[in-house]
Amino acid sequence: MTTTAITNIGSLVTNDPSVGDGSPLGLLQDATVVIEGDKIAWVGPAGEAPAADTAFDAQGRAVIPGFVDSHSHLVFAGDRTAEFNARMSGRSYSAGGIRTTVAATRAATDAELEANLVRHLDEARRQGTTTFETKSGYGLTVADEARALRIAAAHTEEVTYLGAHIVSPDYAEDPAAYVDLVTGEMLAACAPYARWVDVFCEKGAFDGDQARAILTAGAAAGLIPRVHANQLSYGPGVQLAVELEAASADHCTHLTDADVDALAQAAATTVATLLPGAEFSTRAQWPDARRLIDAGATVALSTDCNPGSSYTSSMPFCIALAVRDMGMTPDEALWSATAGGARALRRTDIGTVTPGARADLAVLDAPSHVHLAYRPGVPLVSAVWQRGVRVAGGR
Ligand SMILES: [Zn+2]
Repeated sequence: MTTTAITNIGSLVTNDPSVGDGSPLGLLQDATVVIEGDKIAWVGPAGEAPAADTAFDAQGRAVIPGFVDSHSHLVFAGDRTAEFNARMSGRSYSAGGIRTTVAATRAATDAELEANLVRHLDEARRQGTTTFETKSGYGLTVADEARALRIAAAHTEEVTYLGAHIVSPDYAEDPAAYVDLVTGEMLAACAPYARWVDVFCEKGAFDGDQARAILTAGAAAGLIPRVHANQLSYGPGVQLAVELEAASADHCTHLTDADVDALAQAAATTVATLLPGAEFSTRAQWPDARRLIDAGATVALSTDCNPGSSYTSSMPFCIALAVRDMGMTPDEALWSATAGGARALRRTDIGTVTPGARADLAVLDAPSHVHLAYRPGVPLVSAVWQRGVRVAGGR
């Protein structure tokens, strides 16, 4: 197998506290990484590196693990420019939010949905994201949800069944019948394509009892729960996620002390995934990352990329927001966007730069990962390796 050495790395984030400075980021200065096939074969001081077939000179710049975006909604058609424009212009907007995207998605061909997904995945990859979770949730019929998951599964192994995004407009008069569909025929059609089951537990979407029924049925079909929890208001989502040992409780914007305690107690099982793009794009209250970290919760950062409430695929942007507005240190934000996302996906082969891990790396046009927050909006990701293959950049 061919080996490639990335040499002359000024600052390397390994997320392995047993190496380098001993911090959670396991920072190594003047380092080399050797890739063999799709895996990392060797990590250490430049002077001790083994020989390799080819070399890439990082020219003293920083190298980090590829970002793990553990929450996105990328199987959709259309956009919501008019809604965003109205919201940011202080005008009311009466069109139907998620329902607008549902109508456009149902009307799209398979090829159109796949092309749109691929375009967004490429966009994210150029910004350093090497693992993507994505969800259904804009079909809301048996056939449209299964089709969304089938298309997603062709491009990522992290696929989430979100038939319970909102109650389908077709069932507006009978939400209980929609829950029956989501836990019955739709689940049976979708489970073969998915690893995870998710529900939007919120006023106006699904209440605690409905969410419990949906997640329990999904788990019985072999899917692992994750929950859209406590985004717009206080509610039962976080407690339900912890009780059902969900991999993550996502959003976590409105938390009681009991919710924070529950996430801290469940730190080894249920990750609090924060999605600052949503608060940014809706001018909403920020989630309090500092409060969660200080309590002992495990925190991930993710984009929530979707056409309605957070149309960004940029993990660096989310890092900058988390540092500026959510009380995270630059080190914590980088960890949460890489190793934290891996925890939220229950993966041990990604989110770190250690021998045996998948060779997913990003080279930054900067001497340190701190620049991701220090230089917001600047395209600092200059080269990306995914599964040992250079997929973007090359400067
Ligand atoms: Zn979401």
